[in-house]
Amino acid sequence: MPFKSLGLDAHLVKATRDLGYTEPTPVQAEAIPAALTGRDVIATAQTGTGKTAAFLLPVLHRMINRPRGAALALVISPTRELAEQIESVCRGLSQHTPVRSVLVVGGRPMGPQDRALRAGVDIVIATPGRLMDHMQQGTVRFDRPTTLILDEADSMLDMGFLPDVRRIIARIPNREQTLLFSATMPPVIAKLASEILRNPATVQI
Ligand code: AMP
Repeated sequence: MPFKSLGLDAHLVKATRDLGYTEPTPVQAEAIPAALTGRDVIATAQTGTGKTAAFLLPVLHRMINRPRGAALALVISPTRELAEQIESVCRGLSQHTPVRSVLVVGGRPMGPQDRALRAGVDIVIATPGRLMDHMQQGTVRFDRPTTLILDEADSMLDMGFLPDVRRIIARIPNREQTLLFSATMPPVIAKLASEILRNPATVQI
């Protein structure tokens, strides 16, 4: 089954070809059609399954099919390295679109991140601590309709980030879609999911 049959924008299908993706992986084949409808999604998927494109492609599709600047997406990742990988995949998949992404992670100066955020951005890819710093300084606000993606939610739990994640979520007033990806589904993550997801599609690989 080709990517085209999932209903994705032609510019995104072209990018998948450029990246050498021939056909959707199982998690992509299940998660993309569900997320394209605007539904929340909870997916149990490990690294290496193609999970990053499974959440980025529908988010990019929905973003480019509405007026520029009308919406925002926020990807929260437990580690800087994972956030960097997500940003790199995002750049690859959005290469034929006007979507602007910014990486907001610790261990780097705030200044360039501030400037990128102020210049206007569509997708913020962040670790919780640095994102909180920017939110407190007012350099990023989630006042537009926002799609939230939690990646490796179980790792965020293990690393003690859930309180920060909850604080961040509380400051997204217009959260219109939420995608939660996790390698495992421990009870605490299932509870978080039941609190923040509405009638989610379940994807299990
Ligand atoms: P991830 O699970 O998102 O970390 O992706 C694992 C690897 O699979 C990455 O190197 C991707 O570039 C690659 N990948 C993702 N989707 C596909 C696909 N549909 N076909 C081939 N490779 C893919």
